[in-house]
Amino acid sequence: MAKKQALTCVMCGASDSPQNRVVTVFNNLTICSDCIDFINSRREESLQEDKAEKDTGNEMPAKIPTPHEIRDFLDQYVIGQEEAKKYLSVAVYNHYKRLAEIDARGHAEAKADSEVDIEKSNVILVGPTGTGKTLLAKSIARLLNVPFAIVDATVLTEAGYVGEDVESLLTRLLQACDYDVARAEKGIVFIDEIDKIARKSDNPSITRDVSGEGVQQGLLKLLEGSTVLVPPNGGRKHPEQKMIAIDTKNILFICGGAFDGIERKIAARLNTQVVGFGQDATKRKERLNNLMSYVMPMDLKSFGLIPEIIGRLPVLTSLNPLDRDALRRILTEPKNAIVRQYKRLFEIDGVKLEFTPEALDAIVDKALAYKLGARGLRSIAETVMVDAMFDVPSQNTGEFTVTADYVEEKLREARFDILTGKEE
Ligand code: ADP
Repeated sequence: MAKKQALTCVMCGASDSPQNRVVTVFNNLTICSDCIDFINSRREESLQEDKAEKDTGNEMPAKIPTPHEIRDFLDQYVIGQEEAKKYLSVAVYNHYKRLAEIDARGHAEAKADSEVDIEKSNVILVGPTGTGKTLLAKSIARLLNVPFAIVDATVLTEAGYVGEDVESLLTRLLQACDYDVARAEKGIVFIDEIDKIARKSDNPSITRDVSGEGVQQGLLKLLEGSTVLVPPNGGRKHPEQKMIAIDTKNILFICGGAFDGIERKIAARLNTQVVGFGQDATKRKERLNNLMSYVMPMDLKSFGLIPEIIGRLPVLTSLNPLDRDALRRILTEPKNAIVRQYKRLFEIDGVKLEFTPEALDAIVDKALAYKLGARGLRSIAETVMVDAMFDVPSQNTGEFTVTADYVEEKLREARFDILTGKEE
């Protein structure tokens, strides 16, 4: 009788032995127990990897960050603006909780009659330009693991003529999650420059105002929660373009706007409303310096937002103009502060870069003198640093210190006052 041929493993070539049995798993497919163990362990690892990817990949986080944790995170990037941070942290936290409830119920409609339905609270941030509205939104986006998009309302202002349809605001959100509609429907959209769609007058009948009211009515549909048809590539709707239906019920909208001149409306209201506002000089001064923080929904209406829109943005908070102290901190404190960025750039060339405290003060002074705000810090710093960035890499100096005199000299040489059109 022919001797039975010893089986060998098709994967590793091992022969059958008492320590490592080779078995036939399918037709002529033979495999040893070591390789079976290996396959099982790889399978386990790959399941774990999938799970980890899911945890970080825009699914609900294992633990919802508390409002304090969200605020602490924002503190790393945004200086000051405590009130706005608090409101935003709560709004985002509640958004997560709402989504968690919906997930837990299977879907929102399945709730029992007695259960409380948590309504979403869209947010509106009012504050002068360059005070950190977009920065807050971008920083929130770093933290979140729901799809997030920043869009600009100005693209809509000409709707009816050449502007985009309101629904196109959601295109960016779809793109942010690879057109996964279910995830987009739980996302957050930051609509910048919302004040640009304000109607030109509080009185709707005074002029034909294509840029205001029509766009606001369209936006209202999104904010209220309805199913809208979104052009997958943005722009206007074209008959040949296949639209994607999105339910906006669970999308959180955060709006931001400078509302230039709204202080006058706030002042007028305070003057007429608050008894004695005109008499108490210190109180009056304090209020005048801080008018934005007294903003109320009715001021947005005076500015030209329709009441229905205001009603759909129940969380209203303001950002303050940045003072000297805030500007100084912005230069050095945020995680990606301008000074840190320059230090890193020089470090790559093996050069230790230092700024004296007086040099930083000088940069802030210029930003204040030219009324450039936080945005100006960057352009001033860039003007100051360009020569050093040009020369230092070929000089092997090892270190470079920026002093106040150096700042003054470089700005003088660059005729910064003329460049900014703001000669002192
Ligand atoms: P806006 O309020 O007009 O949306 P941004 O958020 O775009 O202003 O601010 C412009 C730039 O100014 C930001 O990129 C950031 O570098 C800086 N900046 C503004 N406000 C702050 C702030 N509160 N903290 C830190 N940096 C700020």
